[in-house]
Amino acid sequence: YKFTSNDLIECGVIGEGNFGIVCKMIHEKSGTMMAVKRIHSTVDERCQKQMIKEFDIVMRDNTCPHIVQFYGALFKEGDCWICMELMNTSLDYFYKFVYHKLDQFIPESILAYITFATLQALDYIKSRWKIIHRDVKPSNILVSRTTLKLCDFGISGQLIDSIAKTRDAGCRPYLPPERIDPTRATLDGYDVRSDVWSLGITLYEISTGYFPFREWTSVFDQLEQIIEGPSLELKIDRLSDNCKNFVNTCLNKDEKQRPKYKQLLEHEFLRKAKQLHKTENVSGYLSHIIDGLEKNTDKFQLYYYLPSNS
Ligand code: ADP
Ligand code: MG
Repeated sequence: YKFTSNDLIECGVIGEGNFGIVCKMIHEKSGTMMAVKRIHSTVDERCQKQMIKEFDIVMRDNTCPHIVQFYGALFKEGDCWICMELMNTSLDYFYKFVYHKLDQFIPESILAYITFATLQALDYIKSRWKIIHRDVKPSNILVSRTTLKLCDFGISGQLIDSIAKTRDAGCRPYLPPERIDPTRATLDGYDVRSDVWSLGITLYEISTGYFPFREWTSVFDQLEQIIEGPSLELKIDRLSDNCKNFVNTCLNKDEKQRPKYKQLLEHEFLRKAKQLHKTENVSGYLSHIIDGLEKNTDKFQLYYYLPSNS
């Protein structure tokens, strides 16, 4: 049902991203806790109406279990507030805690489940609403005690346009070669296979604990590592060949050779994950890590880059 910003009470900041802030808020009348993302936007009133209409469609549809639930969107003092389900954490905090605080690794069965959940969500938003995510990364995969949900996909074209102007490739480390290559600046249309690359980087990161590039010193260095450097290859003994093969095919530098969602969903790596769903196995693990995270008071480093000796 309808509510306004006056019905919400702020209870603290959850996080801050490139173009906004996420707060915890409570809807007083119903007692519902939510996460509210506030994005500064400069769209006019007609655009606002259109955006709310677009949100309404996505909001009412909760067929896909791996998409964050939306409660609504509203405008206040020039900001767009996107109200959504409050989750426990996101995969960036999750993996950094596991690898760099607990000194453990995420087991392959959980990696497969994370992959399956994310892919299912990406495939759903594409086939149902023709939405391409464009910002797949660990912080946009939210984690609760029982499951994982994708967030921050561009529901509104207008909002994306107004945000896109303020962001350049330099602060978007998950972009594939074809999207950062200055000689291909005219590349039009965003293909799902760009998101497949970002998924590959995300999976590499959560399977090793490290972002797969060395920290770049300039945009030129970034281009050199991503475009001219050797192809990325996940090589870790503890992971199965199926797992490595899955990640490595997502990281093909030639976007035409990267698989699309349907093909990835058929990959042998996901065969077991499809049957897992919300079994004790997954919830037990997620819950255990979240317990630890909630007690953890240390700050996390923003990025863990590939160590320079590897
Ligand atoms: P980014 O995704 O670039 O880190 P965002 O502004 O999208 O920046 O989000 C900031 C942080 O807020 C994220 O890292 C995530 O941990 C947290 N967050 C976002 N949405 C939710 C949500 N629905 N529930 C819980 N935490 C969230
Ligand atoms: Mg985000």
